Amino acid sequence: MIPLVSKLPKTGTTIFTTMSALAAETGAINLSQGFPDFDCDPALTAMVNAAMQSGLNQYAPMAGHLGLREQIAAKTERMHGAVYNPDTEITITAGGTQAIFTAICAAIRPNDEVIIFEPAYDCYAPAIKLMGGVVKSLELEFPDYRIPWHLVKRLINGKTKMIILNSPHNPTATILTRQDIDELAALVKDKDILILSDEVYEHIIYDGARHESMARYAALRERSFIVASFGKLLHATGWKIGYCLAPAWLMQEFRKIHQYMVFSVNTPMQAGIAGYIKNEHVYTGLAPLFGQKRDYFRQGLASTPFEILPCYGSYFQSVTYKQISDKADVDFALQLTKEYGVATIPVSAFYTKPNHNNVIRFCFAKKQETLDRAIDRLLKVTPQSI
Ligand code: GLN
Repeated sequence: MIPLVSKLPKTGTTIFTTMSALAAETGAINLSQGFPDFDCDPALTAMVNAAMQSGLNQYAPMAGHLGLREQIAAKTERMHGAVYNPDTEITITAGGTQAIFTAICAAIRPNDEVIIFEPAYDCYAPAIKLMGGVVKSLELEFPDYRIPWHLVKRLINGKTKMIILNSPHNPTATILTRQDIDELAALVKDKDILILSDEVYEHIIYDGARHESMARYAALRERSFIVASFGKLLHATGWKIGYCLAPAWLMQEFRKIHQYMVFSVNTPMQAGIAGYIKNEHVYTGLAPLFGQKRDYFRQGLASTPFEILPCYGSYFQSVTYKQISDKADVDFALQLTKEYGVATIPVSAFYTKPNHNNVIRFCFAKKQETLDRAIDRLLKVTPQSI
């Protein structure tokens, strides 16, 4: 055997892959990994088919199909009043995760410090470590999961290179408020700190709240990589297409990596999506669609012994289970899958340190009958039963 020193010795398979595999193996209803169990719009697949039939089957430009970049620019301007140049400031990626990895790869050097907020989406910390960066994690304050800005201030020093934000937030379903934006802007002002803003759930936000994109604020936009996902936008997570917005000086570095990591993303899907998202309803319809599912699922959960945490955005609902069990969340989630047939995500997987808040996350981006079946099973869970 050739000796190989692992670059990520403590990393296993992601919790999403693990729980989806367990759900498949046990026949459990899969409310773990975040993806819809209903199909994308046939009008969209028809547009992708048409692109293939018309011969759009060779490489797209490295930065992405120009028509799609133009549509993204138009959508971003309409939504946030921000102008991004499709030639120099927008790149189509193979999903949100690749965009996040590429941005971190472009910006982080050994010993650079990156502030993340935990629970944090699981791909941030490994990417930082692979670049030799130092993960500086701060806990969002349970159970409200607000950002402790006074602690962020204390953590910032000359080595702080980047702050990673995520709104609407996975897994806690919280959103950044205008006050958070003001705190952030004040903290980074006159400092050489970049922002990586994971906004993949940007359109899934409830109760009339506004998505506070970094794109809205010039002082933040000029230092931000913003990551978005067509998987979430189009109910097509398997297509693995997303994009990154950044000012030209950052995008130039992003593309230097992107071109050698994936070169370019598949052409016909980009061409199909470009036509499809001309219709504004594609994204304005997401909040009502998932808002109805959120309300329905929460109503169902209200009769179970789970304690429901707030959900302001995303298609995730977190709960605590203190009345049911004092087991660690990973064990609890495994048992819930095997014995009650509902797969979830234990939220400790989103922390780099041990976490004992006893929170699990459900994905409610599911057909009504799936939610009904899941609730029926969850109603069988009684206090102290696990
Ligand atoms: N974003 C999805 C989630 O949070 C998972 C995507 C993945 O498995 N990489 O469930």
